Amino acid sequence: MSSARIETVVVDGIALAHQIRDELARAVAQHRAAGRRAPSLGVVLVGDDPASASYIKGKRRACERVGMDSVERRLPASAGERAVLAAVEELNRDPAVDGILVQLPLPKDVRPNAVVEAIDPAKDVDGLHPHNAGRLLLGEPGLRPCTPLGILEVLARHDIALEGAHAVVIGRSILVGKPVALLLLQAHATVTICHSRSRGLAELCRLADVLVAAVGVPRLVQRAWVKPGAAVIDVGVSEVDGALVGDVDTEGVLGRASLVTPHRRGVGPMTITMLLRNTLAAYETRRPA
Ligand code: NAP
Repeated sequence: MSSARIETVVVDGIALAHQIRDELARAVAQHRAAGRRAPSLGVVLVGDDPASASYIKGKRRACERVGMDSVERRLPASAGERAVLAAVEELNRDPAVDGILVQLPLPKDVRPNAVVEAIDPAKDVDGLHPHNAGRLLLGEPGLRPCTPLGILEVLARHDIALEGAHAVVIGRSILVGKPVALLLLQAHATVTICHSRSRGLAELCRLADVLVAAVGVPRLVQRAWVKPGAAVIDVGVSEVDGALVGDVDTEGVLGRASLVTPHRRGVGPMTITMLLRNTLAAYETRRPA
């Protein structure tokens, strides 16, 4: 094994997100110049969780900055599942709404699956409806989950070759692990999916040309787990003593990985950007007048 120090690219997710948002803004402006309405995102927020309210605010601002509209349906925490489903149904029927996002978490008496399944799959910009999940499995076009899309975009924009590469994904959630594994497979990588019962996790990770950590265990991935020259994507966000920490020991992998996304300003900004891209895609598929 070579001991030569590798120059690690630390991905600037904010700069990349700005670049893509500029591209999206230009596409929206072209639609507007052609006399069409702006794409629009409908957001359902249930309850008054401050973190959720702040995420929604960020998403609304992001929409505004690329020239998209957004509408909000706010419901009290006591609203109940029927009222949440009715709000989703209203947005489904609204021809001026292209994408629908239901901010999670939902109150305990509202089943997230029931709500996600109520969204019109053509407006499912989070890409979590079983229809879209099935299309991803089938390799058919459809709306994909935002964080996995953002990960693939980071890799593509840094010219990380996936065809024939060994990608190891730690995590098998519906939100990140499984869809990113399927997207990597679709890009012709050889994919290994690991989880909490995987044996020999460190050895498996050392085989990776591309290592995606979507776990939520602070600094799980250490320098010795990384094959020299590998691209390392840190999705995890955990709180330790009031500070946010990722799944990867970022400092530790410098000089060994060819690329790393820091836990802050890494994959996070790409997630909202892909929500905007999905909203534009849903709009273009629906061909508004
Ligand atoms: P999740 O649903 O909790 O899934 C975590 C996965 O990690 C599970 O598959 C679990 O395995 C596996 N796991 C847990 N401990 C492990 C261990 N010690 N070794 C190996 N695997 C282990 O979480 P998620 O929704 O996928 O999110 C993962 C992380 O990414 C979280 O920190 C979340 O906050 C963050 N996240 C960030 C963004 C962003 O935009 N930056 C977006 C989404 C999520 P089992 O299946 O066996 O339980």
